[in-house]
Amino acid sequence: MLIYDFYQIFGQVVIIIVISILSLLSITLILGGILIRENKLIFPKVLLFTLDVFYSFLKKFSENLGVDGKIVDQIGVEVRNKVNEKHFKKITTNDKILVLPHCLRHSDCEANLETAGLVCKNCNRCVIGVLKDKGEDLGYQVFIIPGSTFLKKIIEENDFKAVLGVACYQDLNLAMMKLNKFSCQGVPLLRDGCVNTKVDYKAVLEKMGVKLEKKVEVNRDNSCNKKSYSDKLP
Ligand code: SF4
Repeated sequence: MLIYDFYQIFGQVVIIIVISILSLLSITLILGGILIRENKLIFPKVLLFTLDVFYSFLKKFSENLGVDGKIVDQIGVEVRNKVNEKHFKKITTNDKILVLPHCLRHSDCEANLETAGLVCKNCNRCVIGVLKDKGEDLGYQVFIIPGSTFLKKIIEENDFKAVLGVACYQDLNLAMMKLNKFSCQGVPLLRDGCVNTKVDYKAVLEKMGVKLEKKVEVNRDNSCNKKSYSDKLP
């Protein structure tokens, strides 16, 4: 009889836990949807807890509901951007690093890949040179990296308090998750992939603290026209 009671209680506890987790996942997707659609951040700690603890499960859950699992990374990036925004702005640029993905480079790029990442020659063929130049002018340490191994090395070998990163939503979310002791800001790629990716460099400049004039027209195309970047900078 005692064993029967034990299994009955155990079964009830398991059901309650499963229902609670599924409710938490559903609430996270609903609140994340509100954040993406209406730019309203509600219960950020709940969102961050679920995103960090149930990351893979939440993706599967979302896909089972017919929603692309990428939304989980998008929610993660948006929440972390909002939560860290004020603190990131307060930190001096000399304590910040800018991390760019090497997939933004032009197909004719002649820069060499060294231990600290790509050594951009600033040939003005792609957006990397412009962002690197502007970032260094402002005081950022700039790194152009091919992957997370380089990021690990950068973290180990450099002193900084805040990170501004550019990557696809998934890489950005996972990197921001790992770097949660730093103030992180992220700008997702407009077109991701291994090569020929695109970023809204106006968004990167704004995150860097550059005041853009409203009339400035920004070409989002990551083309190789030498005039397409530097001419539009404030
Ligand atoms: S500006 Fe772009 S294409 Fe030119 S060296 Fe730098 S990364 Fe390569």
